Amino acid sequence: MTSLRFSVVEKAFQAKPQPVAVPDCRPSEYFGKYVFNREKMFKYLPSTVYARLVDAMDNGAPMDRDIADEVAAGMKRWASELGVTHYTHWFQPLTEGTAEKHDAFVEHDGKGGMMEEFSGKLLVQQEPDASSFPNGGIRNTFEARGYSAWDPSSPVFVVDDTLCIPTVFIAYTGESLDYKAPLLKALSAVNKAAVDVCHYFDPDVKKVMAYLGWEQEYFLVDEGLYAARPDLLLTGRTLMGHEASKNQQLEDHYFGAIPSRVAAFMKDLEIQALELGIPVKTRHNEVAPNQFELAPIFEECNLAVDHNMLIMSLMRKIARNHGFRVLLHEKPFKGVNGSGKHNNWSLGTDTGVLLMAPGKTAEENLRFITFIVNTLMAVYRHNGLLKASIMSATNAHRLGANEAPPAIISSFLGDQLSKVLDHMEESTSDDLVSLGGKHGLKLDIPQIPELLIDNTDRNRTSPFAFTGNRFEFRAVGSEANCASAMIALNTAVAEQLIIFKSEVDALIEKGEPNVSAIVQVLRKYIKECKPIRFDGNGYSEEWKEEAARRGLDCETSCPVIFDNYLKPESIRMFESTGVMTRKELEARNEVKWETYTKKIQIEARVLGDLVMNHIVPVATEYQSKLIDNVFKMKGLFAEDEAASLSAENIALIKKIAEHTSYIKEHVDAMVAARKVANKIADEREKAIAYHDTIAPMLEQIRYHIDKLELIVDDQMWTLPKYRELLFIR
Ligand code: ADP
Ligand code: MG
Repeated sequence: MTSLRFSVVEKAFQAKPQPVAVPDCRPSEYFGKYVFNREKMFKYLPSTVYARLVDAMDNGAPMDRDIADEVAAGMKRWASELGVTHYTHWFQPLTEGTAEKHDAFVEHDGKGGMMEEFSGKLLVQQEPDASSFPNGGIRNTFEARGYSAWDPSSPVFVVDDTLCIPTVFIAYTGESLDYKAPLLKALSAVNKAAVDVCHYFDPDVKKVMAYLGWEQEYFLVDEGLYAARPDLLLTGRTLMGHEASKNQQLEDHYFGAIPSRVAAFMKDLEIQALELGIPVKTRHNEVAPNQFELAPIFEECNLAVDHNMLIMSLMRKIARNHGFRVLLHEKPFKGVNGSGKHNNWSLGTDTGVLLMAPGKTAEENLRFITFIVNTLMAVYRHNGLLKASIMSATNAHRLGANEAPPAIISSFLGDQLSKVLDHMEESTSDDLVSLGGKHGLKLDIPQIPELLIDNTDRNRTSPFAFTGNRFEFRAVGSEANCASAMIALNTAVAEQLIIFKSEVDALIEKGEPNVSAIVQVLRKYIKECKPIRFDGNGYSEEWKEEAARRGLDCETSCPVIFDNYLKPESIRMFESTGVMTRKELEARNEVKWETYTKKIQIEARVLGDLVMNHIVPVATEYQSKLIDNVFKMKGLFAEDEAASLSAENIALIKKIAEHTSYIKEHVDAMVAARKVANKIADEREKAIAYHDTIAPMLEQIRYHIDKLELIVDDQMWTLPKYRELLFIR
């Protein structure tokens, strides 16, 4: 009965690092080998076609059908040389993964044979139907089919024998059904709004890009051990398991030497990532045992999002070649840290200026402060929405615990920057901008040492921290599509920059010089958004009270947090920037609530099954052994002596009975609660019922299972234990 656990433990112990096929050239040479990047476009496309494609990529210029045909022909020629036989529109539905439906290039040639074809039409648009993806009711009518459309701003790539074409996924009626369509709209909104604001400082700026550098945390678990844990297999996390006697107390894993089996996995992953054009750079052990991190160099946001989606699927695939399973769940194990995905975000111009980085002159610093303060205002105005953008049934386990950002969005600026903002707030406008000197104007904005901020001042408890030349949105979940957070953040900043410009322009119209108009509006904002600034300990209880006093969103219930998407100010923000309509927002929320319910529902079912098939039978068997022993003791000893010698065992027998009966009763109650909740028609109400009644039961039942694990004979316990899952590598 226990053989599976012990045989997988034994195998896991003996597992050796797998050999990795290392290319015989340098990383810089194999970088982008499987990507139809500019270099290959130039090689495989006629020069006029190349120019038109680059224009479409950089400036969103429309592309004619005949150009698309030529691009497709070039792509196919390149792909054929790599042995590619299929193509797919690769898209990001409202699940946590990516979707693809492969089609072969083959077509009938009309003469009884086959030919290989890939036309512009097939490149540009496809109707995958894919009617089973969550859509929140947008596609309930039969004619509302979904189709995917090529996103030329993210290059096509080859995986195995398939040409993958990044696409948006939209309904025939135009509503987006994915993450990419609204992301592209949000990026275009922030581009336009930021360019307009940049023109106060430099009329030559034509484009502002949002940048994203994600840091992906993950766990690796030996594949055999994983297979022996149905909860990991089906829910991505352990629904039970007592803490190992040792976990992360000694902090001996963090930044420690990377175990050799893991190092082989990382090496393999990095090679394949680089070949796919993902600029991976950093790898290290994380805080929890068997937890690791991977980070690339930051890229343009849309591309970075695609690359993160791609790396997550690569990790899943490559882990299996090394006898591991990768856990991207935000909280696979109780009692040790969970996994996040820090989103390092900034804006930068086509003239090479990082707008979130301090400059050298007072004018440059005014521009820097303009973007910092507007970002703070955006985060302040929409702090509840930003929290909603990173919230999920799985991330809810991590937030608010003493390891991850609290379920309250605030921003850490550090000493230097705080001082500058305080100075601006306290001085009068006349102090800040005075006439004088050769330039006719003197700006009293203190110098900000560039490197100092980055290296000395860190606050790991802040969900939205300034780190020198960017903000780090730390609350994003490890499993999430970064697009969700990036849509909300970029749209909020776009809206804010538009408001800022209209306020500054109004002052300029009244005759105020540009710089003083900007300074005046910024001073007003610095005062207004003060509640979002918090440099203290985000984990503390006092902060929760203080944040509530400041009027920040302190809601902790995941399904209720989703309401933020439908608040009037959120709808106004998304509609005014052209990113999403009310209808789309409503549909997406239906999906969020439904997904939440399903996740908890699955966990409840899995827990019920494990209890009835593993925990209770094993505990009862062990209890029977004890009972048997107690009876036998009576045959050996006098009644009094037997009773005293068996006292401990009798207590154990009782304890086991108490735990198992609690567990059985509560599993029954959980089934009954599910039945009640399942009858609720409204998705939001149903999700709230799951959150309020069923989710807490999972924890209560778990408590008793974990107690049993401590009592029952280890030899009989069927499920691999935490010490095995977390320490064998
Ligand atoms: P840590 O926060 O652990 O110190 P790193 O210094 O490795 O992490 O950086 C984290 C990520 O931030 C990397 O992907 C890096 O490329 C990215 N990053 C650095 N500068 C910027 C920037 N200006 N905008 C966006 N991302 C950036
Ligand atoms: Mg970081």
